[in-house]
Amino acid sequence: MARRKKIYEGKAKILYEGPEPGTIVQYFKDDATAFNAQKKDVIEGKGVLNNRLSEFFMTGLNTIGVPTHFIKRLNMREQLVRAAEIIPLEIIVRNFAAGSLSKRLGIEEGTPLPRPIVEYCYKDDKLGDPLVTEEHIAAFGWASQQDMDDIVALALRVNDYLSGLMYGVGIRLVDFKIEIGRVYDGDFQRLIVADEISPDSMRLWDMESGQKLDKDVFRQDLGNLTDAYTEVARRLGVMPKTATHAPKPKLIN
Ligand code: 5GP
Repeated sequence: MARRKKIYEGKAKILYEGPEPGTIVQYFKDDATAFNAQKKDVIEGKGVLNNRLSEFFMTGLNTIGVPTHFIKRLNMREQLVRAAEIIPLEIIVRNFAAGSLSKRLGIEEGTPLPRPIVEYCYKDDKLGDPLVTEEHIAAFGWASQQDMDDIVALALRVNDYLSGLMYGVGIRLVDFKIEIGRVYDGDFQRLIVADEISPDSMRLWDMESGQKLDKDVFRQDLGNLTDAYTEVARRLGVMPKTATHAPKPKLIN
């Protein structure tokens, strides 16, 4: 069998050339990193969970008319996605103060924000993904004004969708990060949600206990990350409780 061509390897995913032009196979690794890869570990089962959860969120978004790169899941760790030119920005939407916003502005974690706040970070690991404004984005040509209008509209729709979904299973969507890609349909170009949507890139707090069910469990050494993600998947009905912890097959003599 021919070896497939690796296009890119990131911290949590590998991208391979897809079976048809304009497609990519996205492989979810078990690697977890935080603080710009200063903290690293391999968390068994994380890739399987994120593959399933990202499929679930992206499929839901496609269904309500928010375009995403997701085409179909291929297996436990891989999904087929549409190739897109990734805009070099992390789009962050916040509903409650937490993380870098709390630190930067001295607002207590968990404080409800008066309205969802959209922020942009320039995607550059060497620089630690610095916060930028629309002025930087326009001046350096990372996205046009029309793109920015579309990006904000997409980000707020994703926020409404995910907030409602999580509220239904007793989870508060504190904040999240998405990435946006550009695709071409004939003479037209449009923007779609790309990369992944998973607890790696969200803050999810149990509404009653405040328990963290996202990557902060790893960042802050709060317990078992796979258990936290499995709980999110279980509540959303995405996968049975035992799926990632299924016993290994035994050799029968
Ligand atoms: P903060 O700016 O508070 O660190 O992060 C805000 C939100 O965006 C959090 O939900 C966080 O998980 C997500 N986020 C920010 N930067 C990254 C990143 O580089 N990778 C991932 N996976 N998520 C990020």
